[in-house]
Amino acid sequence: MAHNVTLLPGDGIGPEVTSAMRKCVDATGVDINWEVLEVGEHSMKEHGTPMPDHVLDSIRKNKVAIKGPIVTPVGTGFRSVNVLLRQELDLFACVRPSKCYEGTKTKADKVDIVLFRENTEDLYAGIEFEQGSDECLKIIKEINGIQKRQIKDDAGISIKPISISATKRIVKAACEYAIKNNRKKVTIVHKANIMKYTDGLFLKEGMEIMKAYEDKLIIRECIVDNLCMQLVQRPDHFDVLVMPNLYGDLVSDLCAGLVGGLGIAPGANIGDEVALFEPVHGSAPKYAGQDKCNPTATLLSAVLMLRHLRETDAADRLEAAVQAVLKEGKHVTYDLKEDREDSSAATTTQMGDAICEKLK
Ligand code: NAD
Repeated sequence: MAHNVTLLPGDGIGPEVTSAMRKCVDATGVDINWEVLEVGEHSMKEHGTPMPDHVLDSIRKNKVAIKGPIVTPVGTGFRSVNVLLRQELDLFACVRPSKCYEGTKTKADKVDIVLFRENTEDLYAGIEFEQGSDECLKIIKEINGIQKRQIKDDAGISIKPISISATKRIVKAACEYAIKNNRKKVTIVHKANIMKYTDGLFLKEGMEIMKAYEDKLIIRECIVDNLCMQLVQRPDHFDVLVMPNLYGDLVSDLCAGLVGGLGIAPGANIGDEVALFEPVHGSAPKYAGQDKCNPTATLLSAVLMLRHLRETDAADRLEAAVQAVLKEGKHVTYDLKEDREDSSAATTTQMGDAICEKLK
């Protein structure tokens, strides 16, 4: 049966890396009807908005989407399309796998971690009060009136909400993923020793959910600063990680750094209804139109998408093809070469074509 998938090429290098991805996914033989729609700068020109309603309608209808990076213009008043997509589609889980592939410049040998980051709450909820504003002064006065530790009058305020419901759904999603993907261990990450009412709640409610999986999974908890040290010293001890938004942002980049950087880091944003797959990197505007950048992160995002669509065989074959091309090190882009100026580096198209060849 054909799958309907919304494809958003995006900005900068987005059209180049998603074009290579589409060719490779088609080469697996999986039948996909691609509904290709413009967002970001291209849509801005045509529709006067970087995020037209018909894009959301398409994703809601198809339930699965894959996208290239989208520019967040600074100082134009437009909200980030990426944040808008996550909020409008209630994509509460940001899933970031980090795995070592031979042929990439890794800091460790045996990393195979999948990080679940809560996407909707924490200091990223966007509830902020500007220093000196009436609202901010009012809140400071209110808080100073109800407890002993006083906030200085010249402070700015960001709020960190963590709820039982959002905690339960992200921890459950991580455990379900672990079981479906034959993972052995889930570690819940927090700073509950200091932030007792937010991270403490995350830990308590998360552990409650995890208990139901104790017969199938090894359940662990870890304080975030300790986790960072251990990830550098012995990353092979970790499997699936689940954590609140801010730590997820930081730790997922640490994990990406361990396995070779953003050029090869895939991602997914998952909700109850919809799943949106995307590379972690941005639009790299200085390389736009040069057919130069690494399509691996987008291809590995497509591998995640194929697994989500239950096209396991195609996902395995595509991942193996990417792996083989990385290992050979011949048809790879400049960032994967020992010398970044190496004139034998492949273009985005050539690397994509080499991967397609392996799928024949
Ligand atoms: P970026 O990831 O676009 O680029 C930083 C540098 O990383 C590039 O100059 C390049 O050297 C390298 N790089 C990135 N992707 C690469 C690839 N595939 N192959 C080889 N090298 C690669 O980060 P930035 O410059 O901070 O952001 C540029 C724009 O992208 C901004 O407008 C930002 O808002 C947007 N952005 C979008 C997303 C998204 O759509 N999810 C994510 C991050 C940034």
